[in-house]
Amino acid sequence: MITPKRRKNGFEKPYSCIQIVSLCIAILTMLNFSLLCVPFLPYSDFVNYIQIASVVLLIVSSLLTSIFWYHTSVVDPGDCINRDSGVYCEICAKCVHVTCKHCRRCNKCVEDFDHHCKVVNNCIGKKNYRLFIGLLVSIIFQQAFIIIFTTIFIVRLLKKNIKSFKKDSFKGLNPEAIAFFNFLTLLMSIVVVSSSMTLLGMHIYLHFKGITTYQYIMNKKSNEPVQTEGGNTNKNFHKDMDLTKIVPACK
Ligand SMILES: [Zn+2]
Ligand SMILES: [Zn+2]
Repeated sequence: MITPKRRKNGFEKPYSCIQIVSLCIAILTMLNFSLLCVPFLPYSDFVNYIQIASVVLLIVSSLLTSIFWYHTSVVDPGDCINRDSGVYCEICAKCVHVTCKHCRRCNKCVEDFDHHCKVVNNCIGKKNYRLFIGLLVSIIFQQAFIIIFTTIFIVRLLKKNIKSFKKDSFKGLNPEAIAFFNFLTLLMSIVVVSSSMTLLGMHIYLHFKGITTYQYIMNKKSNEPVQTEGGNTNKNFHKDMDLTKIVPACK
């Protein structure tokens, strides 16, 4: 389905379901961790280093994740006019750079097109690729901290036997319910961190291969030799582009 209007960035309609769901998961995980794990981490009556560390690391990593998420979403990776390229996009009705691909969802050509990311609801290309990698790294750090501190809390709870805890030590809240929500946070964080690490590993591999995600997928489909960065004039790269047609020359 082609979006009729050219989308500028990830904050423009239509929104992606994955964008909304991932945003909800991120907010819920942070709220859960901040309200139902951090306050119950004390080990000492004096200075609780674990609690302080968890708060500082959560704030720093969440701030970094939010900054990378916002900038990856807000950047417009389109607009790649190049009159000398010999590549013409019929939809944009413009001559574009040889590494451009016309994204169906955004209805625009994107330079060094990597993929359309549903989490940020934006294309990932030359202008926001590094921000996207920054986002992946910050998510991994943030979720890893949450996993570490939630595990500390759950292990402590299990060691001391959950039933022996009085409601007073949980500020009147039900210990079983707190344990359940912490376990849920732990599971969600494990899923997020493992998928982010797989994705980051994939991008490190592609970096050393000198190809984009799109080129990798197209190459897999066509079963042809991998195209390197220096060889962007490979006609198959454009032949497989949706809605983009090569013309002999652009004026
Ligand atoms: Zn185009
Ligand atoms: Zn797109």
